[in-house]
Amino acid sequence: MSAVSTQTSGQPNATAATTTANGNGTAQTIKSHAPATGELVGEAPVMSKEQVAQVVARARKAQRAWGVLPIEERCDRLLRFRDAIVDRAEEIVQLLSKETGKPRHEALLHEVLPIADTLTYYCKNAPRILADRELELHLFKHKKSYLHYAPRGVIGVISPWNFPFTIPMGDVAAALVTGSAVVVKPSEVTPLIMLKAKEIFDATGLPEDLLGVVTGYGPTGQALIESGIQKVVFTGGVETGRRVAAACGAALIPCVMELGGKAPLIACADCDLEHTARSIVLGGFANSGQVCVSVERVYAHESVYEPLVRRVKQLLGELKQGDPAKSFVDIGAIIFPKQMEVAEKHIEDAVSKGAELVCGGKRVTGPGDFFEPTLLANCNHDMTVMREEIFGPVVGVQKVASEEEAIRLANDSHLGLNAYVFTKDRAKGKRMAEQIEAGSVVVNDVLINHTITEAPFGGIKQSGFGRVHGEDALREMAEVRHINYDRFALPPGNPVGFPYTEKSYGLMMKGLRALFSGRGIVQRIGELF
Ligand code: NAD
Repeated sequence: MSAVSTQTSGQPNATAATTTANGNGTAQTIKSHAPATGELVGEAPVMSKEQVAQVVARARKAQRAWGVLPIEERCDRLLRFRDAIVDRAEEIVQLLSKETGKPRHEALLHEVLPIADTLTYYCKNAPRILADRELELHLFKHKKSYLHYAPRGVIGVISPWNFPFTIPMGDVAAALVTGSAVVVKPSEVTPLIMLKAKEIFDATGLPEDLLGVVTGYGPTGQALIESGIQKVVFTGGVETGRRVAAACGAALIPCVMELGGKAPLIACADCDLEHTARSIVLGGFANSGQVCVSVERVYAHESVYEPLVRRVKQLLGELKQGDPAKSFVDIGAIIFPKQMEVAEKHIEDAVSKGAELVCGGKRVTGPGDFFEPTLLANCNHDMTVMREEIFGPVVGVQKVASEEEAIRLANDSHLGLNAYVFTKDRAKGKRMAEQIEAGSVVVNDVLINHTITEAPFGGIKQSGFGRVHGEDALREMAEVRHINYDRFALPPGNPVGFPYTEKSYGLMMKGLRALFSGRGIVQRIGELF
C-alpha cells in the first residue's frame, strides 16, 4: 500500500512549522517544514501587534480608492488576478503540496480550482447581487426604501492549515469584490502559501496594500481582531473559535465562525454499495481525513453493514501513500505529529471499548509523518471516535437497525457542519437530509458542497455560525444601508409628531383599530397595490 516504510516517526524536524529564536531568545521566525520529508520549505516572520496595526492601516488607506471604484471595474481587475492564479497554478500546487503534504491532485482540485471558480462566480454575479435592492413597503405607502451595500472597510480573515489557499482566498475574493480591503492571518503551520498568493496579487498590478498578510501565532490573530477592523471571518477549531468570538464581542465587530465538524454518513439499506464504499474512502481519507467535512462516522443499515465494511477495507488497501512531491499518490502526509497522537487516542479508546480494527491503526513513516488509513467497525456512541472530531485518516462504522436510528445517531452530536445520505431513492434521501442537524447535507456524494460557490457554507450547533459563499454571504460581507425617502412632496411637519395631545392620542388609537383589526386597512391597501 505504501511508498514509504512503516516506522515510528519521532523526528522533530517532521513538524510542519517550528519557531526559531533570534539572538535575544525571542521567537521571531516560523520555519515551515514539509510534513512528508521534514525538509525546510521556508520561513515567515512572527508579526507583533505594532506590525499588524501597520498592515491594517495601509490596507485601510488602499481601501479608500478601491471602495469607490465601480463594482464592474473591481471585478475586471480581480479577474486578472484569477488569470494569474490559473497561469501560475503549477507553482501554487507544488508549494501547497509541499507545505501541507497533500497529494497534488487535491491541491489542484480542492484548492486552486475552487478559487478560480469563486473569483469567476463573484466577478460575474456581484454587480447583480450587490446592486441596490428596493423594498416593498406594506404600510408606509408614501415612502420608498432601498438597501445599499457599501464596503465595510478592512476585513480580517483568520484561517487554518488544512486548506491554506482555498479557505482564506474565498474570503479574500468576497471582501475585495464588495470594495473592502482584507488582511489574512494564515495558520502558523502553513504560512507560506498565503505569502505566495500575496506575491501573485501584487504582481497583477492590484493595489499592493489592499491584501495584507500577517504571519504569526494566536497573538498575531488576536492583534488583528483588536486592530480596528470591521469584520472577522474565522475558520478553525471550536476552542479557538470561542476565544475569537469573545474577542470580536469585546471589539463589537461581527464575525463568521467556521468551526469543527463530525460529518456522519448514513448508508441506507437501498444504497448502491460500490458507490457508497468508494464515497466513504474518498470522503474519509482525502487530505488524510484532515477536512472539516470529512466523513468521520458511518451509520450502515444492518443489511449492508458487512459487505460495506469489507469493500471499504479492500479499497483502502489499494490506496498509494507517500511523498506527493515524488510521485502521484492518493494519500499524503499528516500535517504534524500531534494529529497522529489524536488519531491514536481515538483508536485506542474505540478498541478498548470493543471496536474491531479492520485495517490501519498506526503510523507509517519514512522520513516525514504518515498514518495508515484506518477503519474501525462495530463502533458505538460510547466511543470518542463517533463523538469527537478526529481530523485524521480514521473512520468508525456503526451498525443500525433502521434509518430512524441512523438519523437519531447522526443528530446525537454537539457539531453540525456536514452530513451525507446514501440511498437509491432520491425522494427519501431528500426527506432524510431535511431531518439531519447540519449546515449542509449531501445525498449520494461527498465533500462537494464547499465547492458549490452559489450555496451557503457553514455550520450549526458548535460548528459555528454565519456563512461563507452564496449571495447572502456576499451581501453580509458588505455593510447594508437602508435608505428611505418620500415618494412625493408632503405638507411640512409630521402628523404623528409633537405636540402630543389628547386629540392626537385618540386619533392614533382609532388609527390602530382601523389599520389592524380583522381585514384592516393595511391588508386591504396591500391587496390594492
Ligand atoms: P486552530 O483553531 O488551531 O487555528 C486556526 C487559526 O486561528 C490559526 O491561524 C491560529 O493561529 C489562529 N488563532 C489561534 N488562537 C487565536 C486567537 N486567540 N485569536 C486569533 N486567532 C487565533 O485551527 P487549526 O488547527 O488550524 O485547524 C483545524 C480546525 O479547523 C479543525 O477543527 C477543523 O474542523 C476546522 N476547520 C473548519 C472549517 C469550516 O469551514 N468549518 C474548515 C477547515 C477547518
